[in-house]
Amino acid sequence: MSFRHYFSLLLLPSTLAACGNSNGDLTTRDGASADSTVVAESTPAGLVPTDADGAMNDGPARSGGVAVATTSDTGAANREPNELGRIMIIEYHLIGDKNSTYERERGQFRRDLQMLYDRGFRPVTMQQVMDGTMDLPRGISPVVVTFDDASPSQFRYIEKNGELEIDPTSGLGIWLDFARTHPEWKNRAVFCMLSGAAAGRSFFGEKGIEGQKSEWRHKKVRFLHEQGFELCNHTLWHANLGKYGDAMVQEQIARGVMAIDSAVPGYKVRTFALPLGVWPRNRALAYKGSWTDPKSGRTVSYDFDAVLEVAGGPARGPNDPAFKVPGNFNRIEVIGDAIERSINQLEKAGQRYVSDGDPNRIARPAASTSDSP
Ligand SMILES: [Zn+2]
Repeated sequence: MSFRHYFSLLLLPSTLAACGNSNGDLTTRDGASADSTVVAESTPAGLVPTDADGAMNDGPARSGGVAVATTSDTGAANREPNELGRIMIIEYHLIGDKNSTYERERGQFRRDLQMLYDRGFRPVTMQQVMDGTMDLPRGISPVVVTFDDASPSQFRYIEKNGELEIDPTSGLGIWLDFARTHPEWKNRAVFCMLSGAAAGRSFFGEKGIEGQKSEWRHKKVRFLHEQGFELCNHTLWHANLGKYGDAMVQEQIARGVMAIDSAVPGYKVRTFALPLGVWPRNRALAYKGSWTDPKSGRTVSYDFDAVLEVAGGPARGPNDPAFKVPGNFNRIEVIGDAIERSINQLEKAGQRYVSDGDPNRIARPAASTSDSP
């Protein structure tokens, strides 16, 4: 099958997919009060770029200014570099007890990470994709792992004798444990967060839901940032942006940005995930807009580089002629064996992005592999 054919098969109407709990309803008309505690004094104006790479276990070894990247992947030598290929941006919702459309069983989640690792994938952030700074060893492919909705299932604390521990059965607990035992698996997931939705989808829990205290919310967001994860906006309470006017669209988005700024002052949010994959009628407002808080008179602006769709298949890589920033990016919902199927199809079509380990060169695939049967 040609890649073009394969790609067309993956073009699903984004509105097929909702995200969140079983009935897809995360919204609350009580958003104002739900969000009140995350509105802090700091101003979102004057946001400065943040170096998420300043964190842990980072970077290839450098020698004389040239990256000397090595990998623990013994299969890497057999993968032909192709830096024109596509990349997978995969999408998780709940991490829990069972597998369903919007839930991944926690043991399966860990097996997903292992499968990606074993097949030569290492995590990168959207920021790295957009900036072309993925710094992967030769023979290795990037994967962007996104977590939507900021539920406690992704990041839960357990309080023990006054100390907070990350619940090892939460998504983050599983990720961090995996990273400890797998070289090159860095803290580079992307958390697309709600700051004031119902059912505890408010910076990973509040009001005692799943044992999570409201006052832990900013601490969680700060922790993610300090560990190198990317903070992504997913609106205030997951409104279907196609149903509202321009003012409401901008309020939903800007209040998500304002809440992140309250947790990590000055953080430049560059990535935005559309709730339900639905664009506002005025699409430009998904990228850029502003809202003035009637209470304080303060104006909050946003200007994103990436808007994430909810589905669509593998995304264009940074060296694809049609790649552009700002731009929108397709994702792959992690349902069943969707990740493995995508990898297999990318490989079959000769479209898997594989690094050559050299940041100064763009490796092109041999013509013979570009359209194999
Ligand atoms: Zn969502």
